[in-house]
Formats: sequence, C-alpha cells, structure tokens
Amino acid sequence: MFGRAPKKSDNTRYYEVLGVPKSASQDELKKAYRKAAIKNHPDKGGDPEKFKELAQAYEVLSDPEKREIYDQYGEDALKEGMGGGGPSHSPFDIFESFFGGGFGGGSSRGRRQKRGEDVVHTLKVSLEDLYNGTSKKLSLSRNVLCPKCKGKGSKSGASGRCSGCQGSGMKVSIRQLGPGMIQQMQHVCPECRGSGEVISDKDKCGQCKGEKVVQEKKVLEVHVDKGMQHGQKIVFQGEADEAPDTVTGDIVFVLQLKDHSKFKRKFDDLFVEHSLSLTEALCGFQFALTHLDGRQLLIKSNPGEIIKPGQYKAINDEGMPHYQRPFIKGKLYIHFNVDFPDMLSPDQCRTLEKILPPRPGNQLTDMELDECEETTLHDVNIEEEMRRKQQQQQQEAYDEDDEGSAPRVQCAQQ
Ligand SMILES: [Zn+2]
Ligand SMILES: [Zn+2]
Repeated sequence: MFGRAPKKSDNTRYYEVLGVPKSASQDELKKAYRKAAIKNHPDKGGDPEKFKELAQAYEVLSDPEKREIYDQYGEDALKEGMGGGGPSHSPFDIFESFFGGGFGGGSSRGRRQKRGEDVVHTLKVSLEDLYNGTSKKLSLSRNVLCPKCKGKGSKSGASGRCSGCQGSGMKVSIRQLGPGMIQQMQHVCPECRGSGEVISDKDKCGQCKGEKVVQEKKVLEVHVDKGMQHGQKIVFQGEADEAPDTVTGDIVFVLQLKDHSKFKRKFDDLFVEHSLSLTEALCGFQFALTHLDGRQLLIKSNPGEIIKPGQYKAINDEGMPHYQRPFIKGKLYIHFNVDFPDMLSPDQCRTLEKILPPRPGNQLTDMELDECEETTLHDVNIEEEMRRKQQQQQQEAYDEDDEGSAPRVQCAQQ
C-alpha cells in the first residue's frame, strides 16, 4: 500500500497526552480532549504548548484513518505525510470546531463575534417529493445591513455615546418602597433601545433611518433530494437576519412529511396495504399499483400460490431511494388482507368440501358427542371488550383502596 516500509516511531505519546488508553473509543477521546482543552486554554491562563499538544493528539486520534497510521507506524509516519492530511489545523481552529466557537467572550485574538440566531422553518413535503426529489422556491424577507451606510446607521459613519445610559444600554432606577426599603430596577435604556449609542437626527442614514439594517425580499430555492427523511434539515448558511458586528445565523428548513393515503415509509422501505377477496387469495390475483412516480406496477401471484390473511410479500428495489445514493432503493412491502365471505349456503359448503383438503381425521364419535355440553358462540368486538374490562379492573382497584384505608385508621386507634 505504501511506497516503502517506514520505520516504527513513537505511537503512544498522543494517548498519554490525552490521558486515555490505546483502546479508547471516539467518545472517550472526545471527553478527554474536552476536559483537558478547557483546562489548558490560553485564554483561561493555560499553557499554550500543552494546549497545542492536546489539539495535535486529538486531531490525529479523532480521525480513524490517521489513527490507524499512527498506531501502526507512529508519529513520524504522519509527519512524512502518509496521512495525506496536508497542513495541520491551528489548535484554536480545532478547539473551536469542537466547541462550535461558543467558548469565552473576551478573546485576546479578537476575531470572535456574536453569532446571530438561526431561523428555523418547517417545510412540508409529500412522500412523492421525497421519492422523486423536488425543489421549492420560497420567498422570505430578512434584515440585511443597510447598503447605503454599510450598517453604521449614520451618514458620517460616526455614532455618539447615548447620554441616557452613558453607553451601557441599561438604565438603573431606584424606587423607595417604604422607610429604609429601596428597590433597584434595571431596564433597557429607552433612548438608545439598549444599543448604548445614539445617532443625531441630522446624521441618520436616509435609507435605514438610523436602524442600520433594511428589509430585503429574497427567494430561496430549497432542493429536496431523493430519499431525504422526515425531520432532515436543509441549511442555508449565513442567510438569516444580518446585524452589525454579528456573524449571520443560518436559515434552516426542517422537512415534515405529510401522511400518504396509500404508502407508509420506514427508512428506505415502503409499505402498502392490499385487500384480496377470498377467491383471489386462493386462486390467484393481479392488480396494478400506481407508484410514487406515476409508474404502474403489475403485481401478481405465482401460479398455485395461496395468500394467507396478514401475510407480507416484498418487491425488491421498489422502496424509497437511498439519500445521496438514489440508485439504491429499499423494498416495497405489501401487507395482504383477505376478505372472507360472511356466509355460505349448505350447497356451497358441500361443493367446497369436495375441493378442499378433507377435515382432520379425529372427528368426534356419536358417543363422545353425547358426553358433551352444548355451547353457543357469540360475536364479539374483542378490543372493545378488553378495554371495558381494563376500566372495570381499575375502578375495582380504586374502590378497594378506598375501603382499605378506613379499617387501618381504626386499628391505629385501638
Ligand atoms: Zn442609552
Ligand atoms: Zn443606512
């Protein structure tokens, strides 16, 4: 596989740095790195060298390919570029990709910004949409930084500190509740609405009236790929509302599958119910099933085959396409129900008995019949009856509890 056999070099140090055994799982690695990296972060007064080592070790061991090379040939092999990794990432990048950049506010490196909120929409899709793939155009309005003042809000580009709150954005008011009792209340400064700065009326940008942002209509084309799942997210990075000094959040569409009248989906498989008459179940059937892309599938029994009530049959490659590999498809399962006739005439019974397999041999003799008691079979709705019985039992248990408590009290008094 490799051009030359590299000599073996140290392949335990990374494990020692993270303080995990060589058999550590990805989860254990993650936990070890998280704990150590927070403790040793330079922004929190940690040792930068140690922080760098941790990131290096984690970068290699969290990548199964690199980990395997490291385990087999050691650190030098990776340095020689066998991992094909290219230049390694900065320890801060690794840290941030791990924590999503949400760590610590005041960074000395000063390149972290507030992150704007994501905007989440649900997007209703039909099973046909997920089978065939589709794209939907959606018109949304969002805030963008005012193009005229570039988000400053003023013509001059200057902004003054709010005199109402001295730039803090908050105002404190004191209320006397009674003698010696004071309540201190903090609220958003009404003059600057919490921004801490004011732009004089004269200097306000003509386009955004000092608001720094303007509304923009935007049409997003959402591509729903074949095989996507209910609940899957489609993300438009950085397309949410813009705001000054803020990293723009994402617009996220969450797919919501509408119920289908005919098909049910489970992962990549489809399920459909089909009722057969007794004659079809016994003597064969064929029917056309319209698939989600409009194709007509001819579904027929094998000669001589009998379908039993509740039986499943499957058709390969007629299920849902697999997400990102749409040529691979799941199965289409058909669940058969058999509609039996309610009654047969004695004539029909005699005819059937001639055709069907004979009754079992162990028929009752006349003597045995004489010793039996007669019974009557009634029709029942079993679900309804079971539900009623359960309710009855609960009621009885409740009543018993009620009665049970009274004598106990009497006993205590004796
Ligand atoms: Zn203010
Ligand atoms: Zn403006």
